[in-house]
Amino acid sequence: MTVYLVGAGPGDPGLLTVRALELITSADVIVYDRLIPAEALARARPEAELIYVGKEGGGESFPQPEIDRLLVEHAKAGRTVLRLKGGDPFVFGRGGEEAEALTDAGVPFEVVPGVTAGVAAPAYAGIPVTHRDLASAVAFVTGHEDPSKSQSALDWPALARFPGTLVIYMGVRRLEAIAEQLISAGRAGGEPAAVIERGTLPDQRVVAATLGTIAAEAAAAGIRAPAIAVLGPVAAVRERLRWFERRPLAGISVAVTRARAQASGLAARLQALGAAVIEAPAIRIVPIDGPAPDLSRYDLVCLTSPNGVQLLFDRLAAGGLDARSLAGIRVAAIGPGTAAALRAKGVIADVVPERFVAEGLVQSLAQVPVKRALIARAAAARDVLPDALRERGAEVDVLALYETLAEPLSAEQLAAVRETDYITFTSSSTVSFLLDAAGASGLGRARLVSIGPVTSGALQERGLRAHVEASRHDVDGLVDALLQDAARARAT
Ligand code: SAH
Repeated sequence: MTVYLVGAGPGDPGLLTVRALELITSADVIVYDRLIPAEALARARPEAELIYVGKEGGGESFPQPEIDRLLVEHAKAGRTVLRLKGGDPFVFGRGGEEAEALTDAGVPFEVVPGVTAGVAAPAYAGIPVTHRDLASAVAFVTGHEDPSKSQSALDWPALARFPGTLVIYMGVRRLEAIAEQLISAGRAGGEPAAVIERGTLPDQRVVAATLGTIAAEAAAAGIRAPAIAVLGPVAAVRERLRWFERRPLAGISVAVTRARAQASGLAARLQALGAAVIEAPAIRIVPIDGPAPDLSRYDLVCLTSPNGVQLLFDRLAAGGLDARSLAGIRVAAIGPGTAAALRAKGVIADVVPERFVAEGLVQSLAQVPVKRALIARAAAARDVLPDALRERGAEVDVLALYETLAEPLSAEQLAAVRETDYITFTSSSTVSFLLDAAGASGLGRARLVSIGPVTSGALQERGLRAHVEASRHDVDGLVDALLQDAARARAT
């Protein structure tokens, strides 16, 4: 079978190519290095064998002949093998050597280029590696070699004269020697220079200086691998183009505690605004099995969450039924998320209260005649709505569609949550289960963001205060409130 030599980009999972993702989701064996986005590996098939061959904490790399042998063996055993490398496989990635080894062994291979760190990290730092007025050429240089050793494969005097941008990979530790070498060969000490650490990742750091001072500045800032150096007039363009740090939530970490299945939407929105997102799902939604309800008995059906909508339709489908079961019945939904979930099933809710809490729905239903109502919701929920409807003389059935259970969180996850700037809570259950998991050590210094008054109340019951409460009680409202709080904090 074929071996695919694939670039995974510099770290931001958004910079994986479509082809790389396609191959990740179909490979039998994935042989991968350090710095491969976890999001990428998470897409592998559950049966796929994942083999790590990167360096262990700055130690020795896995011997290259071993890697070659692994690739050949798995391919000859009939498996589709993905050799996943950081950045581009043929740029300082030893991809060329691996392709040669495969050729020698008679194993067919394909190459999938990736976004190389030497272009991507500068781009995320606001540095164009070429520029019409400033640089008509760019050189990718390895800084791995000791520039003072006599047998260096690199001609430093020639690089000093190179008429364009120098991008130096793997050079943090030798930056001082490299800069000295270049300056003594005639490159101007005052030339702009920048070092980018963990480029394209949420915790990217950039140090900008001149060729003469960059090594000392980078050392003072504690810059460590992976980092890339950019030397040349383009490095100064960053002053005007530093877009990454200007995003509204740049440099801010946010924990998302909702169930894993629903976290992605919120996480993606926060990431798009520049936040580093810590996923710490405190709850898990577990469907309760049961027959399809006979909806024709009701004149009102109330849905209180997108989960409820999904699970009600799952039950209907299991009974051979569909949206037509709701024909002629008034449908009420708490919150725009619930209404949207209904719309996706072809049902437009008749009643959507302005306030996205049960009390809001009670108010909105005040003028609506109700004889028999069905409330489809979680097993454990407040009884505001059924009580209010019963008080008006309606007959009310509650259909428990799911349970909300605690999702175990690892000690590392909890430690990461305690370090964040914000923790978001999208329901009272996220509050109680996260606090149960956190125990006596509490939640650290984070500001607590609540989706609405009910969730804030749950915090209060545990002796905590919501620092931020959304005025619109849905995910968009929560993100808006967090943005406003972050902007206020920035301004002061
Ligand atoms: N094949 C890779 C490079 C591998 S060499 C590519 O095309 O990008 C490893 C070096 O790449 C690191 O020492 C560092 O200099 C650079 N590098 C990789 N990822 C980086 C990142 N996210 N930010 C800055 N430099 C990075």
